[in-house]
Amino acid sequence: MPYAYDDENIFAKILRGDIPNKTVLETEHSLAFEDIYAQAPVHVLVIPKGKYVCYDHFALEASDAEIVDFTRAIGEVCRKMGVQPGEGGNGFRAISNAGEDAVQEVPHLHVHILGGRPLGRMLQKA
Ligand code: AMP
Repeated sequence: MPYAYDDENIFAKILRGDIPNKTVLETEHSLAFEDIYAQAPVHVLVIPKGKYVCYDHFALEASDAEIVDFTRAIGEVCRKMGVQPGEGGNGFRAISNAGEDAVQEVPHLHVHILGGRPLGRMLQKA
């Protein structure tokens, strides 16, 4: 089934400038901003400007330019926030929730960049 994008989701409103955000980085195809309910000292969301619901939607339909821009934006955000382990930072976790089982709350692709403290193991047993 093709993905249906909801133009009224909160990140679409941020991209339209209807609601404010704390921007960390803006590129031609991507925007990164602080998560409003930060779960770690560093908690930044990186989103493509295009209308993609989740990661596999993006992987299937985004242009090469969008994919390169988004991927590099994630690296740039890690560098800016000082969590890139290759450059003296202590590391980060990149998470992208998709769909119901992953409890995706906002139906616009976003990658969480988390760091600034030990994050523990990736998942807890249900
Ligand atoms: P997810 O559960 O992966 O869909 O995560 C959605 C994230 O968006 C949560 O971590 C929220 O705290 C965050 N969020 C929701 N509204 C805003 C907003 N207006 N500005 C920044 N982050 C937001």
